[in-house]
Amino acid sequence: MESLWPRIEPLLDGVAKPARYIGGEQGARQPVHGEGRVAWLLCYPDTYEIGLPNQGLQILYELLNDRPDALAERTYAPWVDMEAAMRAAGVPLFSVEGHRPAAGFDVIAFNLSAELVYTNVLNLLDLAGLAVRSADRRPGDPVVVAGGHCAFNPEPLADFVDAFVIGDGEEVVGEITEVLAAHWRDRPGAGALGAAVPAGRDGTGVARAGLLRRLAGIDGVYVPSLYRPEYEGGRLVAVEPVDGAVPARVEKRTIADLADWPYPRRQLVPLTEVVHDRLNVEVFRGCTRGCRFCQAGMITRPVRERPAAQVDQMVRQGLEWTGYDEVALTSLSTADFSGIEGTVRRIIEDPRHGERVSVSLPSLRVDAFTVGTAAQIQRVRRTGLTFAPEGGTWRMRQVINKLISEEDLYRAVDAAFSQGWRRVKLYFLIGLPTERDEDVLGIAELGARCVAIGRRYHPSVTVVASVGGFVPKPHTPFQWFGQDTVAELRRKIHLLKDAGRRTRGLTIRWHDPEASAAEGIASRGDRRIGAVIERVWRAGGTFQEWSERFDLTLWEEALAAEGLSLDDTVHRHREQDEALPWDHVSAGLHRDFLWGDWQDALAGAGLEDCRWTPCYDCGACTGFGLEHVVASATPPAGGSQGTGQDLSTGGRVPVELVSARRG
Ligand code: SF4
Repeated sequence: MESLWPRIEPLLDGVAKPARYIGGEQGARQPVHGEGRVAWLLCYPDTYEIGLPNQGLQILYELLNDRPDALAERTYAPWVDMEAAMRAAGVPLFSVEGHRPAAGFDVIAFNLSAELVYTNVLNLLDLAGLAVRSADRRPGDPVVVAGGHCAFNPEPLADFVDAFVIGDGEEVVGEITEVLAAHWRDRPGAGALGAAVPAGRDGTGVARAGLLRRLAGIDGVYVPSLYRPEYEGGRLVAVEPVDGAVPARVEKRTIADLADWPYPRRQLVPLTEVVHDRLNVEVFRGCTRGCRFCQAGMITRPVRERPAAQVDQMVRQGLEWTGYDEVALTSLSTADFSGIEGTVRRIIEDPRHGERVSVSLPSLRVDAFTVGTAAQIQRVRRTGLTFAPEGGTWRMRQVINKLISEEDLYRAVDAAFSQGWRRVKLYFLIGLPTERDEDVLGIAELGARCVAIGRRYHPSVTVVASVGGFVPKPHTPFQWFGQDTVAELRRKIHLLKDAGRRTRGLTIRWHDPEASAAEGIASRGDRRIGAVIERVWRAGGTFQEWSERFDLTLWEEALAAEGLSLDDTVHRHREQDEALPWDHVSAGLHRDFLWGDWQDALAGAGLEDCRWTPCYDCGACTGFGLEHVVASATPPAGGSQGTGQDLSTGGRVPVELVSARRG
């Protein structure tokens, strides 16, 4: 496969941020193609600076390049100026390492971490010179794979993606590699992998369908062309396999122990500015706090903590390798990492790092936040401090199962301001189930109290309340909820803005409600939404995550052209027994557990963290023979949900089933 660099280089003078396209990062590989290696192109369907730090992509990049039978390069969505230049010059999508054409790879694998990138997926396939619809691809074209959290409802992209990976990708990418290698080996006249048929594999015409069937035999791989949606009266009633050779339900993959996967070992260090430009070390996967709005928390259960000694080692080696002076300990709720204070202390006090290294803990939970941890972090440098109470009143937080009391929040904010922080950010959602105006106004009241606490320590402090419109997600207890309309979200934002104006030092920020509506279309849509996404893309709607590029009218017009509506797709409450587009994909969670939790939400009843309490049999552990894995016997500060529960066990936490969901 030849490098396109001589044709790419002249384009770079005329585009913004040319460093997006040149590669050459520390840690980038220059894999040798051919010699029997399956070539993966890992694609993040947003700009380079958003996509480069993505940990999932970097883990798979390293794992694949470490295999003798595979190699991986990367690509990102070229910004609109570069895309125009590429199309004008006839330059197809290329990898950033070898600047090789995307269509020459064996697999193009997309990371789907947000729904609004879906139109970019189509655009990138088109830019690669491939048919956007799977059914129109030629036998020799690359296999188009997608994974990531959004793959848990694969149906909106089912017409465009050949195979989805559901769940953790570490093991599956190896299995896909082996299936592809075996398929080509079995094919008469295929020749050496990677050498005989460089621009696509299936020159002898062996049916692509046969390969897809083999891929469907891998646990956790969903091949949508082997499943057929059925509709009655304009409603989806089922998604059924076309025959008995594929499972009726595709179960997610879960790696049992993160200790076996200490990746990435050599994090990529970019030559240009990117988001999260620091060392990122994943300390655990999964979350059992049970926040009912949180898809990530639900689909990544159970909790799998990395051993504390391995975290220490990854931090030490990562800082040496990258030269960064900041490390983020990442997870869905890092303050819940057992022994977090010791881990932070060891980083800060490690003489090899001197005084220069700072630690950031994204997504601090206020109930697990401790003065000690705050003090340790701020000893070196004060990084951003963000808390996420999510709901403005205790009633609202009970509905969403974010059981943070006001006292918890005020204590944490007091600790932060007393130790020198001047600016605290609070995250909230509006448009939540059962929400009343008093819940929305409660956000301004909480914010005002936090400002008052801060003023005890400094005359000028800032509290930023950042407000997003809630989008119900598949595989959560809120999957049945009818999302608020744009008009209703706007009304609530105005209410909040007016209330917020009364407090100097309180800033209210909000997410565009129109973007929440479009996200709602793609989040819970069925296979018919594929045509809507294609229309939005054909009408020029790329980079819909970017406010300057986003346009809801494109989505509304596309829905109307397909005989669909926002009301039915987004704002309608779903019935208990209604077929949901993702019913044939399993995150392990029992549907009756989710429905019961939804009913508890409506009744305002909370549910405690199952990491430290008996199991509610949601299915995530029990269905897969898994257990929570924790790093230390020390519970998070405050115990489960701030109850101060005492723990006697460490290491593997046995799953103890209780018959009633709440005892
Ligand atoms: S199966 Fe039980 S212990 Fe495991 S995540 Fe579900 S409720 Fe928690």
